[in-house]
Amino acid sequence: MQLAKSLQAIKPSYIREILSVANSADVISLAGGLPDGEHFPLALMEQSIQQLTTRSELFQYGSTAGYGPLLAYFRECYQLSDQQDALVCTGSQQGLDLIARAFLDAGDKVVMEAPSYLGALQVFGLAQASIESIQQREDGPDLQELEQCFANNTIKMFYAVPDFHNPTGVCWSLEVRKKVALLCQQYNVALIEDAPYRELRFAGTELPLVSSFCPEQAIVLRSYSKIATPGIRLGLVSGPKNWISALERVKQGADLHSSQPMQAVLLDLLQHEDFPKHLDGLRQLYRQRYQYLADLLTAKLPDNCQFEPVEGGMFIWLRLPECNVDNLAKDMLAVGVAVVPSSVFYQSEVGKGAAFRLNFTNACHADLLLAVNRLAQVLKSIKG
Ligand code: PMP
Repeated sequence: MQLAKSLQAIKPSYIREILSVANSADVISLAGGLPDGEHFPLALMEQSIQQLTTRSELFQYGSTAGYGPLLAYFRECYQLSDQQDALVCTGSQQGLDLIARAFLDAGDKVVMEAPSYLGALQVFGLAQASIESIQQREDGPDLQELEQCFANNTIKMFYAVPDFHNPTGVCWSLEVRKKVALLCQQYNVALIEDAPYRELRFAGTELPLVSSFCPEQAIVLRSYSKIATPGIRLGLVSGPKNWISALERVKQGADLHSSQPMQAVLLDLLQHEDFPKHLDGLRQLYRQRYQYLADLLTAKLPDNCQFEPVEGGMFIWLRLPECNVDNLAKDMLAVGVAVVPSSVFYQSEVGKGAAFRLNFTNACHADLLLAVNRLAQVLKSIKG
């Protein structure tokens, strides 16, 4: 059977090639975007999971919007207004897909920062959207470029990851957040704020969601993959009622609803008295790993390899002198370390530069040390 044209246009990702070898025993992987599996809050979930067999109603079909008690909890916890609704989705990735299906026709313009989250590039690519790339600076998108782009085009939505961006770790400043919200209002652009790393802040102070400055035209995507576990596949979309109701209609056709037993377990977990302690522990663990990796990179890599410090999330963006990053990532694999080359995160030439995304949350100190030694061995050979 012939593939749909929308899929034909999408090239198989090079990242899959890397990830397929990254799991072999002699390779240390800093390539995935994985939280640390040894620190999943399974003990806090144990009782709730055991009790599931006594709650047969959870195993019946449920409502598309989500498990009622969980939705009520979210409504209160995220202080949704009467004009807003929420919808539980099968990972925040499904939320993104629902948004594309509900609101995008082929050729509609979507603005993204360059570089961008690969999963969003895939969703918008499948939707045959036309992507406008805006360069990312140290404190968020280049505002001049963004305003020009909004002014010169009919833009449907701006997709952004303002807290600890994937792949760069950048966190938008307060000024940038306010200005972007203002521009979205001024040019009537919907803001899609993807916030899976928001709770993983391990330094600095929390900043308001960008959408809090323009709630009437923003959708927020939240994920429970990083603070609970990715395997439960639960996320949340919230925003203006009529938009969420459109997403609900699409979700009906996609999977009817997300797993109710898992939603009940997630609710118990979020309300568990020891959950805040779990989160604190996670942040502390990730802070230590980040600091350890950052110190090693500074000490062991040549001066032409640089990175900006991050205050949370899961990634360091290691900038390199101009080179073929795909080949260099293959050289890294050959010496036993997997990283993701920057090339996969760009949709066009805008802002393109040589870099590796390094994940620091899923490797112990000993593995981080080995990985940096291997990186250093290859990187000292590139000039620039
Ligand atoms: N958005 C971003 C920016 C991500 O990095 C990820 C995955 N790491 C997702 C969305 C999807 O997360 P999930 O579907 O597991 O909630």
